[in-house]
Amino acid sequence: MTIKVAVIGSGPSGFYTVDALLKGDPDVQVDMIERLPTPFGLIRGGVAPDHQTTKKVARVYEKTALSDRVDYFGNVEVGRDVSLDELKEFYDAIVLAVGAPRDRKLGIPGEDKTGVFGSADFVGWYNGHPDFTELNPDLNTSTVVVIGNGNVAVDAARVLVKTPEEMAETDIADHAAEAIEAAPITDVYMVGRRGPIEAKFTNVELREMGKLHNCIPVIDASQLPDTVEGEWSDRDLRLKERNLATMKEFPDVDPTGKTKRVHFTFYAKPVEILGGDKVTGIRMERTRVENGRSVGTGEFFEIECGLVIAAIGYYSEPFPGVPFDEANGTVIHDDGRVGDGIYAAGWIKRGPTGVIGTNKPDGEIAARQIFEDVSDSGKPGHPALAALLAERGVRVVTYDDWKAIEAEEIARAKPGAPRRKIVTVETMIETLD
Ligand code: NAP
Repeated sequence: MTIKVAVIGSGPSGFYTVDALLKGDPDVQVDMIERLPTPFGLIRGGVAPDHQTTKKVARVYEKTALSDRVDYFGNVEVGRDVSLDELKEFYDAIVLAVGAPRDRKLGIPGEDKTGVFGSADFVGWYNGHPDFTELNPDLNTSTVVVIGNGNVAVDAARVLVKTPEEMAETDIADHAAEAIEAAPITDVYMVGRRGPIEAKFTNVELREMGKLHNCIPVIDASQLPDTVEGEWSDRDLRLKERNLATMKEFPDVDPTGKTKRVHFTFYAKPVEILGGDKVTGIRMERTRVENGRSVGTGEFFEIECGLVIAAIGYYSEPFPGVPFDEANGTVIHDDGRVGDGIYAAGWIKRGPTGVIGTNKPDGEIAARQIFEDVSDSGKPGHPALAALLAERGVRVVTYDDWKAIEAEEIARAKPGAPRRKIVTVETMIETLD
């Protein structure tokens, strides 16, 4: 009795689902289907290139991928190379673990101007994600505004102000390293529509901003309260107290010899991107926080800048053939059960929040539901998919192929760097053929 499961997406939620399936049933067979040749989703394309320790979780995922009950179908896009209906004929269950790859929109005038980027695109660009290799952001500006007070905003600000030496032992894409090194950027404004206590960045990420080689954090001490007020869980209270203590230390960071600044700018919401075709500034409204929400005060100010990065959260795309909740940006589901043999895990189920490990329970829930709902119905699984893709001439990238791409990236790495990323699908395939 072998249940055959297809997991679409090979990021953290996909891998935690496969792992839970393997642990829950000694006979289950799982195929992972991934649009890119490369596995690991946001671990490769989202986690900042200078956070290599975080990326080490891929080694755990690799053990899962190497199970003889798991096969990897990289470079295969559902909807292009194979349809969801075809997968339903081949598999007893299908898990959508495709994440939230798009940017939420600011919804303000001017956001389509040249020089305004969402963080999914901008982070994808510096991380060498093939979708964003051609983004070519113009970094010829002294001032950048990053909108948002989450960890992605901190990542983007930090990567823009770190020195080449600080980035030497990272896997930042060559095109991004060269553009950032050549850029005249001196000031990055990181703007939160609420205050320092409501900010969503975590303490490890915040503290890094006080330890940069050529950059100081600038903060208006009058915006920092004496203590953390409000109703918070014990865990949140501890985090917020740590953040407040860290921010209070920022004015003491020695500026000697440092030429760059990250300005922590609270209580300000963007109302308009200024400029002609290209951004030249941003108009902000000062805010105050009422009942946890940001409220405009009717007082406005402008920041001149040549680049705006909106790091205001991600958004899932509708998955072809699956009902989608536009308001929440997730598939419609009942605790992960989408119906018709389909399940959801990770950001396409929950929305774009939480750390890597938050995806683990999603995978466990999806696996448990599959074992409750599904039995071996004689569906063919792997051989049927492999035959169909071969018939259609799809160049499937196997896990061994990915290891060959990775070996090439490691062989090309500069001294100290973990790899030198190959940034187009064509070049990845060329290294194999
Ligand atoms: P996030 O933590 O939800 O932060 C989004 C930020 O954007 C918030 O400050 C939010 O303000 C602001 N925002 C949303 N809409 C806005 C608007 N219209 N105008 C102005 N500001 C707006 O999201 P994220 O930074 O994209 O991160 C996603 C998840 O990945 C988070 O759970 C994060 O912790 C995780 N992550 C973790 C790491 C790490 O552990 N190192 C690194 C990267 C990402 P409000 O709070 O007022 O809504």
